[in-house]
Amino acid sequence: MTDASPIYDAIVVGGGPAGLTAAIALAETGAKTALLARRAPYGDNRTTALLGASTDLLERLDVWRRCAGQAAALQTMRLVDDTGRLIRAPEVRFSSQEIGLDQFGFNIANRALMAALEERAAELSGLTRFDDEAVAVDPQDASVSIHTNAGGTLTARLVIGADGRQSLSRDAAGIDVKRRDLHQSALTFNIAHSRPHKNISTEFHTPQGPCVFVPLPGNRCSVVWVSAAKEAQRLMALGDDDLSEAAEKQSHSILGSVRVEPGRNLFPLSIESPGQFASHRVALVGESAHVLPPIGAQGLNMGLRDAADIADIVGQAMSLGEDPGAPQVLARYQSARRPDVASRVFAIDLANRSLLSDFVGVQSLRAAGLHLVGSFGPLRRLAMREGLAPSWRRGAPSSAAKP
Ligand SMILES: Cc1cc2nc3c(=O)[nH]c(=O)nc-3n(C[C@H](O)[C@H](O)[C@H](O)COP(=O)(O)OP(=O)(O)OC[C@H]3O[C@@H](n4cnc5c(N)ncnc54)[C@H](O)[C@@H]3O)c2cc1C
Repeated sequence: MTDASPIYDAIVVGGGPAGLTAAIALAETGAKTALLARRAPYGDNRTTALLGASTDLLERLDVWRRCAGQAAALQTMRLVDDTGRLIRAPEVRFSSQEIGLDQFGFNIANRALMAALEERAAELSGLTRFDDEAVAVDPQDASVSIHTNAGGTLTARLVIGADGRQSLSRDAAGIDVKRRDLHQSALTFNIAHSRPHKNISTEFHTPQGPCVFVPLPGNRCSVVWVSAAKEAQRLMALGDDDLSEAAEKQSHSILGSVRVEPGRNLFPLSIESPGQFASHRVALVGESAHVLPPIGAQGLNMGLRDAADIADIVGQAMSLGEDPGAPQVLARYQSARRPDVASRVFAIDLANRSLLSDFVGVQSLRAAGLHLVGSFGPLRRLAMREGLAPSWRRGAPSSAAKP
């Protein structure tokens, strides 16, 4: 990192799952890529339901085979109205077979996914790793300079801001972000249970938010329990026996007796949308570009599509001799990402609001909507396909990627 340092085609700032995937995908296109990210053990016990083409992408990047054995297939999704209200929605069951897939996707611990991504990133000769962090990002006309905590300077024609919710890259590019605190939190933990889950993910809709039990390999599930912030804190503070009992009660004992495993985390929920996805030689991927509540497992699936799109767009631009950070290249990324992200933020916000609403009219509409989706085959199949990926970009089915 001296005056003789190379000018990279792209520097990825941030080594979460979205940043690592973007760095691998960019390096695979032949772009001279750097990854500026601290090497640190993954810090929480979240799992990700990788849906639709996400595993296809990870397979193409030679990542999936390294962690597939630690993932559980998701073949059925059950939505259960557990609001106890007078007007309740009927149970809706989505089966992957109905749309010709062996499974909707796979649930995997983020820790296992991160280890596979790190292993693959370390193999690529076109990807240079800096175990450091950005302290200043300075976009100029022809390049962007990044000053690091260790005192170095890196230069690139394009910066990928994969630096999460408090993105320094996003601020440096002058991109505003709209934030709305949802006053809900998600408690995450894993459980062992006595009955098999049969690869069914079950989402109980409570008046405070959804509580979802997502299969892991064996008789285990990951739990994401969304509730009002205070209630989530109460659950977080329970001893293991009491939380096991609470989880068994919330699951209506469908998994038999439940035992919580060590480790739990609490995530305050918000919705965050930036005004743009790219500007001033900076393109945003992952949570710097969208933050959603964990409903419908969309967050990282979108983050992986961000990574795939920026790599495709940069790869094509460079093959035409274009500057990867030029305004017209960033405009292509903006047009590729806006419809996908905007439609999902809208749908998930609506689903969450309709669940929390005390208005009988809204509750009736929600119940009628779910009844329609549950009972009308074509609509149910459309909902399933849209849940996996937007209609305009669906490619090969995820059944191609088996663990
Ligand atoms: C409870 C819960 C459950 C979820 N379940 C699912 C699911 O089932 N399916 C799904 O698709 N999504 C899910 N999500 C969403 C998913 O977890 C996130 O979208 C994903 O983890 C975000 O990854 P990221 O790489 O964008 O951000 P992060 O993981 O936050 O990574 C950002 C990285 O940037 C680094 N960084 C920050 N600043 C700098 C800097 N200046 N220099 C260098 N590095 C920097 C940070 O240290 C961090 O490592 C869930 C979210 C929650 C809260």
